[in-house]
Amino acid sequence: MAAKKYVYFFGSGRAEGTARMKDLLGGKGSNLAEMTNLKIPVPPGFTISTEACVESMKLRGKFPAGMWTQVEKNLAKLEKAMGLRFGDRNAPLLVSVRSGARVSMPGMMDTVLNLGLNDQAVEGLARRSQDPRFAYDSYRRFIQMFSNVVLDISIKYFEEILEKRKRERGVELDTELTTADLQEVVRRYKALVRERRGREFPQDPRQQLRQAVGAVFGSWNNPRAIKYREIHRLPHTWGTAVNVQAMVFGNMGERSGTGVAFTRDPGTGEKRLFGEFLMNAQGEDVVAGIRTPQSVEKLRQVSPKAYQELDRICRRLEKHYRDMQDVEFTIQDGTLFLLQTRTGKRTPTAAVRMAVDMQREGLIDKRLAVLRVDPHQVEILLHPMLDPKAKVERVARGLPASPGAAVGQAVFTAEEAEAWAARGEKVILVRAETSAEDVGGMHAAQGILTARGGMTSHAAVVARGMGKPCVAGCGDISISEAERSFLVKGRTVKESDWITIDGTTGDLMLGRLPLIQPELSGDFARLVKWADDFRKIGVRTNADTPTDAAATMDFEAEGIGLCRTEHMFFVEDRITAMREMIVADDAEGRRKALAKLLPMQRSDFKAIFERMKGLPVIIRIFDPPLHEFLPKTAHELQSLAADMGIPLERLERKVQALVESNPMLGHRGCRLAITYPEITEMQASAIFEAACQMVKERKKVLPEVMVPLVGTVEEFRHQRAIIDRVAAGVMRKSGVKVPYQVGTMIETPRACLVSDEIAAEAEFFSFGTNDLTQTTFGFSRDDAGKFLPQYIEEGILQDDPFISIDEQGVGELMALSVRKGRSARKGLEVGICGEHGGDPRSVEFCHRTGLDYVSCSPYRVPVAKMAGAHAALKEKVKITVLGEK
Ligand code: ADP
Ligand code: MG
Ligand code: MG
Repeated sequence: MAAKKYVYFFGSGRAEGTARMKDLLGGKGSNLAEMTNLKIPVPPGFTISTEACVESMKLRGKFPAGMWTQVEKNLAKLEKAMGLRFGDRNAPLLVSVRSGARVSMPGMMDTVLNLGLNDQAVEGLARRSQDPRFAYDSYRRFIQMFSNVVLDISIKYFEEILEKRKRERGVELDTELTTADLQEVVRRYKALVRERRGREFPQDPRQQLRQAVGAVFGSWNNPRAIKYREIHRLPHTWGTAVNVQAMVFGNMGERSGTGVAFTRDPGTGEKRLFGEFLMNAQGEDVVAGIRTPQSVEKLRQVSPKAYQELDRICRRLEKHYRDMQDVEFTIQDGTLFLLQTRTGKRTPTAAVRMAVDMQREGLIDKRLAVLRVDPHQVEILLHPMLDPKAKVERVARGLPASPGAAVGQAVFTAEEAEAWAARGEKVILVRAETSAEDVGGMHAAQGILTARGGMTSHAAVVARGMGKPCVAGCGDISISEAERSFLVKGRTVKESDWITIDGTTGDLMLGRLPLIQPELSGDFARLVKWADDFRKIGVRTNADTPTDAAATMDFEAEGIGLCRTEHMFFVEDRITAMREMIVADDAEGRRKALAKLLPMQRSDFKAIFERMKGLPVIIRIFDPPLHEFLPKTAHELQSLAADMGIPLERLERKVQALVESNPMLGHRGCRLAITYPEITEMQASAIFEAACQMVKERKKVLPEVMVPLVGTVEEFRHQRAIIDRVAAGVMRKSGVKVPYQVGTMIETPRACLVSDEIAAEAEFFSFGTNDLTQTTFGFSRDDAGKFLPQYIEEGILQDDPFISIDEQGVGELMALSVRKGRSARKGLEVGICGEHGGDPRSVEFCHRTGLDYVSCSPYRVPVAKMAGAHAALKEKVKITVLGEK
């Protein structure tokens, strides 16, 4: 039986692979093949497949049968193509051995350059190139890399030797070392290997190659790579390909060099060649920071022919891949070679600009343009950002734990944060790390800065949930809570000093930097418009006030999915009436107090209806437990009693009576409205009086009244009867008709299970995914900060279910509810409200589950729209992406 094909050649203008063979050849290998087929100058070589790696792992490091014979054959072909021989003492072939998985895993696995050198070959290389310094520079680099990757000797010992030699010679740069110096370095390197490994540095090139290939295979399972895959959720079963490629030399003197380039500016998206290079350098020298590289524009003067060639090839690659490319190049004695191409990473701003520009240039269609911009990236564009025109001096960098920039005065405890914020100050809460007790302070702060903790620390998880900027684990600051200050770079920042954090980058700056507020304009607005054309799922907002309603229209949402009436009660004069209602002894007393609230609510609803211009507005009946509206401290109680002119004891008794052991599952939602029906009566009156006024003014209006926290159809029926009765009364009195619907939130597991019964009575459903997640898991969201971070750290949960819908559990209940609901009422309108509505993965889930719309906070509307378009497009078209993702 013939052995399986494990090795794929590329060179002399033809390759056995193509860009579409990423799974087998890895990103690097498949793109080297593609470039070869495009006749772009790429040093020839061959790729050993990921399959070979996978099989070798199964064989505990042994190569699969037949693989090495194929390597030998391809090596012979490579020798012929190059006119050089592997291990030859006069004309030695040198190769690089490069890892390359399906997707790039930056810095995770290893590369060895100049393989094939030994004590004789280095002399041959010196003679042929007539440049002994270059030959020994290559040799010392090879020993260093091979020893590190294959023999597992830390690179730092080699760097020490090199540094020592530079010191001995009184020079600063490695380019200043002479041939003799480098020969000495090589001698010391070899001695180091002998000392550390008890044997000589391997001199046989075939043995070097075997070991290097084995080591690259093995590097797939080094702890770094495993951790990387866990974080990025990549399968461990893929394996890596190995590319063996003829060397070209950027370290052959001043007419040679190496660099990296982007076909467009990855920061701004501007269409221009962008990048850096170093003359007389090899491999990673550009990024390693040993010398300061030059901007690629300078190459125009330094090596005009190479520059023009590079510019031409970059344009060609971009046309071919139809996306911005990130390339590696090397110039050998004035001649340009390409060593890698892949789809380049970019900032959100650049992603939007490139997508729109490329559509205009005819490179991609609108569909692809929309797909080019990740909805998560859009989210970053919607947070306040540092003004790009501001001069920014970073003093420390932590983890970019929750995006957006924030400016505020430093405070060091959660209580201070709350107290200062109550006075109207803007603060940044600075803590060593946060815990559940800090949540109030985090909420009150503009942003959070912690010295300890990772991306899944309490601070990070909670801040992301709140949409607050957060820089976590900023190890460069040392905090003294006692002295209310922190130290950074020798400077002391005291309480009340202004600081600025950027949770998108992890940066900390001193002082008060200018921020810019997000808006939907220019390229961004255009892209979101295109998304509208592809998206199937509707997007509404959670909007509680006329201001929110205005934002809803600015962001071009399609209605309000959730208007929480209770938020309107927290305002100064209303809270008093609210409290009178709560304290009242009977329904009569409550009605009197509610009557004071009615006109206020009516005018709110009217203002919201006006702004919404006839788009649907879902108004939810009062939901929270009453105790949330009463003061807690003795002092506050005293002054309230005085204000209301009632004895303190009566107030205290009332507060006592309202205490619940488990308010989340207590007297709230429709349960409250069933025991206090006058609340629903007042709210329905306000809604329908406002709506009737609209109709009288010949304005369009579409109210949808929603009953919260239903578990049984009887609960719903009870509330619906009140709403319908009030609606009929108001309409009769005002002599006009208003179209309206009455529906329910679905936020308890029982409601999901009996959705057919409920849908027979309710005209629409809206999943309250926050409560549904709480009740399905039995987690209280306010207490989950105590254990969720650890759950995620240890992989007990993959994601925070309060951020992304838990598809297996909560999602399954939703799907069941939709099915049952629509079986009882054809075309039942179903949506979700709650923060999940702005989470791209949850939006995609809602699309798949057949929901009519998602509802999210106004500033997340573009995120939801982009996510909705992605979901629809991914379902319809099979997108073939050439470049490496
Ligand atoms: P990584 O995946 O970490 O970028 P690479 O395999 O791309 O590693 O190689 C590291 C560096 O070595 C890159 O700068 C690359 O251009 C350079 N390099 C790799 N192979 C060759 C070669 N055959 N000739 C010259 N330079 C090479
Ligand atoms: Mg590379
Ligand atoms: Mg709820």
